[in-house]
Formats: sequence, structure tokens, C-alpha cells
Amino acid sequence: MTDSPAARAAKLLHLRRRKLRKGEPVPLPLTMAAMFNLPGNPAGHSQYGRFDNPTWDAVEELLSHLEDAPTVAFPSGMGAISAVLFSQLKSGDRVLLPSDGYYTTRVLAERFLKPLGVSIHLRATGAFLDGGFAGYRLVFVETPANPTLEICDIAAVSAAAHSAGAIVVADNTTMTPFGQRPLDLGADIVVAADTKAPNGHSDVLFGHVASRNAEVIAAVKEWRKLAGAIPGPFEAWLVHRGLETLELRFDRMCSSADTIAQRLKGHPRIKALRFPGLADDPAHNLARAQMDRFGFLIVLTLESETAADNFIGGCELIQPATSFGGVHTSAERRARWGDAVAPGFVRLSIGCEPVEELWTALEAALGTA
Ligand SMILES: *Cc1c(COP(=O)(O)O)cnc(C)c1O
Repeated sequence: MTDSPAARAAKLLHLRRRKLRKGEPVPLPLTMAAMFNLPGNPAGHSQYGRFDNPTWDAVEELLSHLEDAPTVAFPSGMGAISAVLFSQLKSGDRVLLPSDGYYTTRVLAERFLKPLGVSIHLRATGAFLDGGFAGYRLVFVETPANPTLEICDIAAVSAAAHSAGAIVVADNTTMTPFGQRPLDLGADIVVAADTKAPNGHSDVLFGHVASRNAEVIAAVKEWRKLAGAIPGPFEAWLVHRGLETLELRFDRMCSSADTIAQRLKGHPRIKALRFPGLADDPAHNLARAQMDRFGFLIVLTLESETAADNFIGGCELIQPATSFGGVHTSAERRARWGDAVAPGFVRLSIGCEPVEELWTALEAALGTA
């Protein structure tokens, strides 16, 4: 039986206590160490800072608890994605990636996997099941996709991909383990950027890989150790602190996003609006079936680049920035990076501001957009 999100959230705050000896600090100590005291036989002990670190262990314990699976921490979301792709693929393999997801994943594959003999194929998230998965070694989904918020059916993709002999990787960055648990839906591997809501304070990059397949975990751990893509202990410590309030922040952010999306609907300045929680969103039924929450991202399209820039720049409670998931509401016009979206397309990341204050500010900025 898997715990409810509420039970997981409550237990997370008391995991550390179970191991504390009398007189030890309640908060997690930060261990900055390249060397460890290591006389004689090194087996079974911390050996070197590229192999182990007690602060990584602590953050991995929290992430494993949330994913209900062994977890390996990385210095960024892309570090986690690289570890999976480079440890699982070899020359001659075919990989299927979302055409509308996080663009760096596609660029990485094209730039570094293709020259090694891996063939890269793309498919739109909203039609991910179309065409099946015959001949693929690895199928990579991102749902809801960043930035389109298109959704694909993780359970159906996993079943079809498995019967075709492929492994399924799900990028769960937009949802966090409190919003969706792809491993429970049949995916083999979760990758995520903890840079976003899990850390939540926009001051750290971090990522993780989770899997219930022991060979996958061993391979990504070995990749981390040999490639040297290791998280800094201080970053791990900050993410550990962030995870202690993730449920609280995520709950506020998702609830506020829901309220705000309902109110944005039908606003005369908005040409298009996507939020999985809206009853008439094309992905709503699927979202209800596989997600615990509808997330904190809303995408809206205004009539032009200028209208979008004026909205973002003119709102006193929007931080103009790339990235998302922080305590402060933030937004950006995605076409400025070349995403295949309209010039007035805005990705809005709802933060932790009290919702009525936030709505008042958003509505005022829209009025002058
Ligand atoms: C941000 C992001 C990443 C990459 O994370 P970094 O920590 O910036 O490397 C990967 N996938 C998705 C969906 C993201 O939004």
C-alpha cells in the first residue's frame, strides 16, 4: 500500500528523528568533505567526496521517501537527465523524445547522443501514443510538458512501450512527487529538476533520478561517480531544507493557480489559456486520472509580444525570469528562447503570495496589457 500524499508529507518531517542519538542536532548538519578519515581497508566507509557525502544521503532519503523508490541526486535536472541517457543508451539504439518538452533535453540528445550512433526521434506530447513504440530502446515523456502543458497518458505509454521492449523515462519536473508519481503509473525511471518547486527558493540548481530498478540505480550512481557530475554538499543541504516545506508551498501554489486560472478564463485580453485543472482543457480528464494536483503553471497567450511584455513587466507581483517553481510568482514570454509558441505566449508560475493579493495585481496588469 502506498501512503497518501498527506501521510508522506507528515512522515517526511520526522524521518531524520528516527536516527538521532541523544544530544545530536535536530536540523541536518552540512558536511563539506573531500576527504574522510580512512585508515586500512576502505570498504564500507565514506571514501572520497566524489563517491559519497552524508548530506547527499540525507537529501536522497527525503527524495526516496517522496518517490517511494531509490533516488540518486545530481547537481541539476540536466545532470540527472544526462546520467539516464548516457548510462542507458548505446550505439544503434533509438530514442523517442517529446517535441514540445524542455528543449535542452532535445539539444543534448542531438548534439551528443546522435554522434555516438543513437537515433533521435520526436513526437508531440498530446499525441504520444500515436505510432506506437516498436524499435525504441528508450521512450522519454514529459507531462505536463514545459512549456505547452500538453499531457500524455503515462500508464498507457508505459504499457505500450514495455510490450515493445522499451524502457520509459518520465520527466516529472512540472509536477513534483506531490503532484504526480510516474513510477506508480508504470514508468521505469523518473528524472526531475529540483531546481524548481522542490528547492523552491530560486537559489540552487539540483536534480534527481528515481527508479525501482536496481540496475538503473547502480548505473546512474556509477555514472555520477565516474563522470564527476556530483552535487555540492551545500546545494544538497539547501534542497533538504526546501523539501521540508514542499508540500506546504506546493499546496498553496496549486490552489492559487486553480483559482487564478478559473478567473482568467474568458478574460477579453487572453487569446488562449491552458491549465490542466480547467474543466474544458483538452487534457483535463487525463490530468484528473493521473495527477494528484493540477500544478502551479498556467500558460496564456496575449495578442502580441508587446502585450505579453507589458503584462509581465507591468505586474508588481510578477518576477520576470526564466525557470519556475519559486516562492515568488514569475513569468516569461517563451518565444524569446525560440520555443514554437505564439509571440504573446506567457508561462506563468504561480508562487506563494496570498491569492487575492496576487489576483488583484494580475488583473490590474492584464487591464493595461
Ligand atoms: C528546468 C527543467 C529541466 C532542467 O533542469 P536544470 O536544473 O535547469 O538542469 C529539465 N526538465 C524540465 C521539464 C525543466 O523544466
